[in-house]
Amino acid sequence: MTLFRTTGKRERAVKTLLGGTCEWCDRQVAFPDLVLHRIVPVPGRIPPESPDPQKRFLLLCRSCHQDIHRIPLPNHLQRDLVRRRSPEIRKALRILFDYIPEPYQPPDTADPAEIYEECFSLRSLDLFRAGG
Ligand SMILES: [Zn+2]
Ligand SMILES: [Zn+2]
Repeated sequence: MTLFRTTGKRERAVKTLLGGTCEWCDRQVAFPDLVLHRIVPVPGRIPPESPDPQKRFLLLCRSCHQDIHRIPLPNHLQRDLVRRRSPEIRKALRILFDYIPEPYQPPDTADPAEIYEECFSLRSLDLFRAGG
């Protein structure tokens, strides 16, 4: 798959952010020779693609792009290339694609009323002790 649904403006911004460098061979090439390659979803994997848009593509020079399809490079190795991006780059790319990671949701441990009751009974126990 060569098409990555993005605007020309976004595509240029991605190329700028990644320093006009191919993420596979690390060569710096002219913008028109860089291709946004969409990482093919893994069949059977749930979810097939990461919700994080910056994990769904690679910026490649034309020859690496041809190779990645011709070999083809296994999906996990393509994802390894994505993981080489620095935290700053990842953050900037997420902002570029308007992606806000979900805040961490703590698992439901206890009923708030139960916690309140527990605090209350502990305090009354302290009061009882203080008084006695
Ligand atoms: Zn491609
Ligand atoms: Zn390359």
